[in-house]
Amino acid sequence: MEHLNKACPEVSWVITGTCNFSCHYCSTEKEFLEYNDRQASEVAQKLISILDQTDKEWHVVITGGEPFVVRNFHEICHQITQNHLITIDTNLSLDKPIENFIQTVNPSRVRQLYGAVHIEERAKHESLTKFVNRIHHLKKHGFPLKISYVLEPKLSVRFWDDHQFFKEHDIEIVPKPFKGIMEHGFRNLKMEYYDQKTKEILREFAKTKLKTTVSVTGVQCNSGKDFIRVMPNGDVKRCYNATKLMGNVLVDSFEFNLMAKECDVAICCHNGLKHVEFKPAEREFLNAIMSLKLGEFVRAKESLETGLKLDPNFASAYINLAHIAIQERQYELASTHLEKAKMLSPDHPTVKHHEEKFKMGEFDKIYFTNTIYFEKSRMM
Ligand code: SF4
Ligand code: SF4
Repeated sequence: MEHLNKACPEVSWVITGTCNFSCHYCSTEKEFLEYNDRQASEVAQKLISILDQTDKEWHVVITGGEPFVVRNFHEICHQITQNHLITIDTNLSLDKPIENFIQTVNPSRVRQLYGAVHIEERAKHESLTKFVNRIHHLKKHGFPLKISYVLEPKLSVRFWDDHQFFKEHDIEIVPKPFKGIMEHGFRNLKMEYYDQKTKEILREFAKTKLKTTVSVTGVQCNSGKDFIRVMPNGDVKRCYNATKLMGNVLVDSFEFNLMAKECDVAICCHNGLKHVEFKPAEREFLNAIMSLKLGEFVRAKESLETGLKLDPNFASAYINLAHIAIQERQYELASTHLEKAKMLSPDHPTVKHHEEKFKMGEFDKIYFTNTIYFEKSRMM
């Protein structure tokens, strides 16, 4: 089973936009709601042939929509797993396709099945007992499973009851931080989604990686080389948030990047950050954002101060130190940090906004920033 953990290049394949659930927070692009089984098979054939030609073992993460709604999905998985590994993001709700999968796919070629509870939507479709039985059935056949629970803000009040229910059935559920609702092609992640109760739950789960959205435009990123995202129509993008296309597998117009390239995308989210070649100061800044989202000011301050020792010209780090100082009611210190940010980046709208709000005493409007670089000149 060692090979399951080794690092390998990754494809995220959105096999379909269709799903039998309709969670209100679903981020599936509307244009892919109309899927077509024939197209999924064609994309699979082309994709497998492209991956085989690289002579590398790829980790193909299949997502949707709901992958198991694709007809003959088990056959597609069987073909991919001849030379590559798979992971599937699924709501684990469809008995027949799952049974076909169990009978066809070698579990030792499956790196992970990520089953999501989607508690409110599931209640409309089936009992939790059915879901629990399905999980145990897959486990019995040797498939590695992780069960997640999207921590949509209003669910924080019932999370522990649901957690207990699954625990009594020998299943551990892990909260998945809510990433916001899709608006105009982007997830709108509002800070109020992370209320006190939600933060407490997330802190309880040390294993939970807080997925976050960060603006890292300008950093060197290996996506496009070690990672690609393939859409249901065969389009290939560099990563989750890239808007430019690299080509399309169905028309043979696609080539991998040969080296890391500068990120030219406004917002990076999901797992995109793991492909970035962060400098040490940038890494500290990122750690600070994660801590700020959990309200862990001491830890955030430590990361920002370490980052500034490594790179004293980080205007955005001073903005975040000012935010922390305000939370701690140290207004003079906040003013010093804002002055420093202004000195380093006088024209940036966030710096101007914060300076103005500070003068007006509107301290609650001095939020933290998740933009790494304010100045283009520093993206080198
Ligand atoms: S189960 Fe997943 S793909 Fe389906 S509606 Fe819910 S979030 Fe969207
Ligand atoms: S840093 Fe994130 S958004 Fe930018 S190219 Fe890499 S994966 Fe994409």
